[in-house]
Amino acid sequence: MTEAAFYPWLLGTWAALGAVTLATLFFVTAPYGRHARQGWGPSLPAAVGWIAMELPAPLVFFAIWTVGRWRGLPGSVALLLLWESHYVYRAFVFPWLRRGAARPVPLGIVFSAAFFNVVNGYLNARWLFHLGPGRDAGWLGDPRFLLGAALFAVGFAVHVNADSTLRNLRAPGETSYRVPHGGLFRWVSCPNYLGEIVEWIGWAIASGSLAGASFAFWTVGNLLPRARSHHRWYRSTFPDYPRERKAILPLVF
Ligand code: NDP
Repeated sequence: MTEAAFYPWLLGTWAALGAVTLATLFFVTAPYGRHARQGWGPSLPAAVGWIAMELPAPLVFFAIWTVGRWRGLPGSVALLLLWESHYVYRAFVFPWLRRGAARPVPLGIVFSAAFFNVVNGYLNARWLFHLGPGRDAGWLGDPRFLLGAALFAVGFAVHVNADSTLRNLRAPGETSYRVPHGGLFRWVSCPNYLGEIVEWIGWAIASGSLAGASFAFWTVGNLLPRARSHHRWYRSTFPDYPRERKAILPLVF
């Protein structure tokens, strides 16, 4: 089978798997962080686990860019920078800043997230830099790129800001949980997830690709059910939890 025939097959299968993941995670909450529980096998300390999970994303994407026939086009370079800006933060900055880093992450979660990042990185990078149409300088003025990049930037800002609020709820070495306040926490329990979803919807638009759309769909599939689980956990753990706050979408869900 040639790569040109394999690629659409993989993308279709991948999107279907994203739908299965979304449905499954409404019933089974991924067992890490506050939802960690016994019976999920051996674990790694969270900081090590997060690096191992996320590192494949920037590495695979960058490696595929270096061998792509469109690597020199301005649109390719701009999209590479967007992707790497998120993943340099996620793989190299976030794991070291987080507090409660010793809390374990099961190896099964680490392997499945790393596998996701390899396949997702391949699907996005290979299409943008080799198999799909090249994105030349004109793409940088295209309304899709401008709107998508703006959404990506807003989502990233919301995401990093919410991460910082959560981090500051703990003193170094602490592992307990508190009720977050301020910014979008006034409206939702998980603005960090909301920001990440907005980012990858922006990416889907800015890249103008089905691979980007599949990634945005997967992100919703992972984070929407988890936001619901967090929200329920907050409500059952803190009797004075703000009643008007929603899980992830202000006023709606
Ligand atoms: P959480 O919001 O559960 O936790 C983020 C960090 O903040 C953790 O260190 C957590 O500690 C800490 N924290 C959270 N709430 C509180 C609180 N109330 N009091 C004190 N500390 C708190 O996010 P995840 O760990 O699930 O995910 C981390 C990032 O990865 C997120 O920003 C998310 O957007 C991204 N992600 C992306 C996915 C995707 O599909 N694109 C999938 C999964 C995550 P602790 O670990 O001890 O709970």
